[in-house]
Amino acid sequence: MTSLFTINCCKSFGCKNLGLASSPDYSWPEYRLGYAALHCRVCGSYPPLFNEEQFRSWLSEYLTDFAAKSGHFCPRCYQRETIRYGHNPQGSQRLQCRSCKKVWTPKQQPLATIVPPEQIATVPLIVPFQGACTEQKLYVLFSFDAIRGNVLHISSNFTPHLVGDSLRYRWRDNVEPEVIHDDIVERVRQRETLFLRRSQFDEIQYGSAMLKRSANGAVLRPVITAHGHFRILSHLWPEVKTHIISHECFLRGATITAWAESFRNRHASLWFIDEEINDNKCTLPWQLRGKTDQGWWQNQWQILEQGSNRKMVCLLTEGHVEKGISITLAAGRNFLDWLRQQTEFQCSARYSAHSVFQAIRALTGKYNALIDKR
Ligand SMILES: [Zn+2]
Ligand SMILES: [Zn+2]
Repeated sequence: MTSLFTINCCKSFGCKNLGLASSPDYSWPEYRLGYAALHCRVCGSYPPLFNEEQFRSWLSEYLTDFAAKSGHFCPRCYQRETIRYGHNPQGSQRLQCRSCKKVWTPKQQPLATIVPPEQIATVPLIVPFQGACTEQKLYVLFSFDAIRGNVLHISSNFTPHLVGDSLRYRWRDNVEPEVIHDDIVERVRQRETLFLRRSQFDEIQYGSAMLKRSANGAVLRPVITAHGHFRILSHLWPEVKTHIISHECFLRGATITAWAESFRNRHASLWFIDEEINDNKCTLPWQLRGKTDQGWWQNQWQILEQGSNRKMVCLLTEGHVEKGISITLAAGRNFLDWLRQQTEFQCSARYSAHSVFQAIRALTGKYNALIDKR
């Protein structure tokens, strides 16, 4: 169970300490890179340190809340094995945990069963909301079954739970330059440069996110949201072998930590992707047009072309490089195209962070129902 809460650990693929909460090879805090970091002597990496106690306290509330609502695992001990335990007086299904015997009635009824995904694809989206002043921004993460296309899980960096100060997002009025180059290779390069310019790799500055003065809850650092997000997914589906993420370095860290055991045992692969899709209907085969090494870690990216469409993929772990051709964010693209046409979503800037997230959640339910009918 401890691995569910591990956040301070080596995050390097190929290192024997990947995902381990403790190791004789660790020393911390180390300030060599200008921030408090853990140093792993085996691979030489310096992942930024988190306040473990504050993370644990937030994550346990988040997991409990998710479990109480969805019924996917026990809200008290987080075990996944549950049995149906009759109905409450209102006729709602009750569940009992096989392990600690807790009985509860999930709020989401009827209970949804989700087909276990083979591949998970994850994309972020910045969504406007009404906060202390207009045009505040929420950081939202969407994960999809990359093959079936349904939404598996969404998170935002608004949290109704109590959070320690170290987990809160702090806008320093210093927005990152937009990555807009029309050449996909240049875009990947720009983004890598941007990661290096941050005060630390996981400290994204995406815009102002001040809640209304009267609002409950808090706005989390997106890296914390990402760790919570992938913790839920890896807890539900520890066996997933293929992970596809948008090109953002802290999504890499959060994914590799959440499924650390699989990655350490070389049972799963993780891909960065960027796409430039001009013709959604194109059915030509993808062709490899070249390779390029990018960024601090000199990761090798493949450049692929299909008619007027281009994509770049980068295998970050064990895996078959030739599978790059089949790696796609189509599930995310299709959903976001649909989402942007929904009125509730279009007027998000008029509503509070909490309401915007509720509205998006309701829309994902609607979208999944459409996917099921196909
Ligand atoms: Zn290491
Ligand atoms: Zn339990």
